[in-house]
Amino acid sequence: MSVNARPSIIQSVIPIADLRQAGSLPIPAHVPSTDATALRDQRGRQLRDLRISVTDRCNFRCTYCMPKEVFDNNYQYLPHAEVLSFEEITRVARIAVGQGVRKIRLTGGEPLMRRGIEELVAMLAAIPDIDLTLTTNGSALKAKAATLKAAGLNRLTVSLDSLDDKTFRAMNDVDFPVAKVLEAIDAANAAGFEQIKINMVVKRGVNDHQVVQMAKFFKPAHGMPGNIVRYIEFMDVGSTNGWKMDDVIPSQEVVNRIHAVLPCQPANPNHLGEVAKRWRYLDGAGEFGVISSVTEAFCGTCTRARLSTDGSLYTCLFAQRGYDLKTLLRSGADDVAIANAIVGIWQSRQDNYSEVRTAETARERKVEMSFIGG
Ligand code: SAM
Ligand code: SF4
Ligand code: SF4
Repeated sequence: MSVNARPSIIQSVIPIADLRQAGSLPIPAHVPSTDATALRDQRGRQLRDLRISVTDRCNFRCTYCMPKEVFDNNYQYLPHAEVLSFEEITRVARIAVGQGVRKIRLTGGEPLMRRGIEELVAMLAAIPDIDLTLTTNGSALKAKAATLKAAGLNRLTVSLDSLDDKTFRAMNDVDFPVAKVLEAIDAANAAGFEQIKINMVVKRGVNDHQVVQMAKFFKPAHGMPGNIVRYIEFMDVGSTNGWKMDDVIPSQEVVNRIHAVLPCQPANPNHLGEVAKRWRYLDGAGEFGVISSVTEAFCGTCTRARLSTDGSLYTCLFAQRGYDLKTLLRSGADDVAIANAIVGIWQSRQDNYSEVRTAETARERKVEMSFIGG
């Protein structure tokens, strides 16, 4: 299939699947405890990661995330007044860290489109004991890499779906050239970001011919730290990307294709709950990862919460509704009340969408990824 042929998107779009108006879930009462390490959800999972969507806007129209047919000139993005301020984001983050969060990822939409993002990075970096990271499409990274580093950003993930310019331009659907993202990755390495994660969403018949090419390109020379490609299975996030199981390349197939050219073996996880499964090249130089959200669900170790652009907390990427923290924040609630809300929300969490995914659940109206953060 040509990269431009995507009849399924238009046919399967649910008319503006906008769940932002769907209403929030009531915030559950919490069970008091003085020990944040004791905070567990209904399946015994801790709260360790907070992903923050700092904007619902993006300059790309990736066909699997913000297809042009839906995110067009008429699409209503959040008005400024509904978007959390840097102070509000930092406050939620600080309180969440008090409840066990150790890793914060800034995302979106495209986080580098949020004006003054370096300021927010500096505010969050001042919170002790956290790993602060950001996921970007790389389009504005070249100019910002050094300031982000100076502001205290620890690590970076850059999304890159193809090295082939024609395929890349078609997938971002705004004709953005791949060379600029590659330059940005070089600039980020030069600014001191090591082992940048390179996210590639693999879609059958669209960019899967680039799997081995990407592995070869980013495989470091011996003794060099290098960047790390992570192959992501195409997911049924949101309600607008026309997802079909047939379009998913299972991670095992990705591994097989790479192994045939660059022999590799599984490597131990860096930590419990690591989303990507690591594979190390047998020649000792470099590694890659696979994120098998569709074929090998990892809900059992999922420790992630998401804060949407408008200040709702979501306990799953595939959620239909979130919990409105913004109203609490703006109604004069003190830190204890907000902490209790986070605790109550987490204690009642049962999510395991990827374990129960079917063709029917894939058609459910879910909130868009650009809104709650990838
Ligand atoms: N705009 C930034 C970017 O693209 O890196 C950050 C936000 S984006 C939603 C975060 C990550 O989600 C990206 O790596 C993107 O490729 C991935 N993503 C988006 N839609 C996806 C889908 N349907 N399946 C799998 N991954 C997806
Ligand atoms: Fe934008 Fe990232 Fe979604 Fe692509 S994946 S449309 S760059 S938010
Ligand atoms: Fe976590 Fe939901 Fe993904 Fe399962 S489906 S891993 S609970 S975000």
